[in-house]
Amino acid sequence: MYNKADAVIIGGGIIGVAAAFYLARANYGRIILVEKEKFMGSWSTAKAAGGIRAQFDSKVNIQMSMVSEAELCRFKDDTGYDAAFDQVGYMFMLSRDEDIAHFKKAYELQRSLGLPVELLQPEDIPRLAPIVRIDDIKLATFCPDDGLGDPAQFLAGYEQAARRMGVEFALETEVTGLTVAGDKITEVVTNKGTIACGKVINAAGPFGGLIGKMVGSGIKMQPYKRQCVTTGELDFVPSNFPMVVDVASGLYTHKESKGLLLGWADKAMPPSFDISVDPDYTDNILERALDRLPKLETAEVANVWAGLYETTPDHRAIIGWEPQVEGLLHLTGFSGHGFMHAPAAGILAAELLTGKEPSIDITDLAPERFEKGELVHETNVI
Ligand SMILES: Cc1cc2nc3c(=O)[nH]c(=O)nc-3n(C[C@H](O)[C@H](O)[C@H](O)COP(=O)(O)OP(=O)(O)OC[C@H]3O[C@@H](n4cnc5c(N)ncnc54)[C@H](O)[C@@H]3O)c2cc1C
Repeated sequence: MYNKADAVIIGGGIIGVAAAFYLARANYGRIILVEKEKFMGSWSTAKAAGGIRAQFDSKVNIQMSMVSEAELCRFKDDTGYDAAFDQVGYMFMLSRDEDIAHFKKAYELQRSLGLPVELLQPEDIPRLAPIVRIDDIKLATFCPDDGLGDPAQFLAGYEQAARRMGVEFALETEVTGLTVAGDKITEVVTNKGTIACGKVINAAGPFGGLIGKMVGSGIKMQPYKRQCVTTGELDFVPSNFPMVVDVASGLYTHKESKGLLLGWADKAMPPSFDISVDPDYTDNILERALDRLPKLETAEVANVWAGLYETTPDHRAIIGWEPQVEGLLHLTGFSGHGFMHAPAAGILAAELLTGKEPSIDITDLAPERFEKGELVHETNVI
């Protein structure tokens, strides 16, 4: 049935559907997206907290976010799907001198690239986030263009628009191998048969490293468990409450339904594909949340889940052609920023497959950087 394509996209998460949408919009020809699960977006995309921000410390990540935020603002016009990008802003709260020095440097870079980020004194914080404890906070950065979105809605919008433009979706179709003749990719081998194809996009999220291994690629990435908690209804969360990140403790929080979402990354977790909820992890999140938001004392836990970050050693995505195999494009390893960077990733995939010069300088995201040892670290990581 699916025996031949101009491009096969491996992975039906937010990155795969964004690539499908922008490629179809570029009239790329026959595109088949293969997804091993029964439903689209059921791995990392389903677990994302929905944060969208441009406050990074590397030029390429800031630019990826600025392009993506602009795309998300016109998402309805472009896809016909009304998914909300709620631009309530992102606030990074700083209590340690070393963080202040680092964030001020990043602020200068962000401003130089045109991002309307501001420095806030502690007395400015309650206006935006009246429910956070600020007695130890010395400075905050705030960008009003950042905000929140529902990953499931943006995924549905891209998928529906891509289907209308003729992209074919093969669910419950697992890629088990890639055939290479000479140094060129020629086939995608799946549990449902083989698809002859000269261009393949590795958008397999946390499984991206396994796709790379099929052709002996040197890309490096690992899956790490990350957990989130949501509270029940709270009557004290203002409607303009931004995403708040307590940089010293690593806690992040934003409004979710009628309560709050609380998250924290346990950076001591070993790599694993395990997504079972860990009660100690939950306790660690709640402890940090109660410390920063004392009003949560009476809150109830509504939901807890775990998912995977698809992390590279330098916390930057892998975007570029596989050096060992002609025709394989990596679009993976987004290191916990994949939802917010999906539009830019999709645009770049379409540019690379159609032979255009990438509109963002993605040299620092090249797959060969791992073997060359040329890593430039992104450190504004949540
Ligand atoms: C708790 C948590 C909170 C997060 N919060 C945010 C946030 O606030 N903002 C943000 O931008 N990002 C966030 N992220 C990160 C974000 O979820 C990911 O970066 C993003 O979803 C990656 O999308 P993806 O399409 O690459 O991966 P996925 O959504 O995992 O999609 C990859 C797909 O590939 C399929 N696949 C894999 N192997 C094969 C195969 N062999 N054959 C066929 N199909 C295959 C999988 O089944 C999967 O559906 C968060 C992640 C977690 C876990």
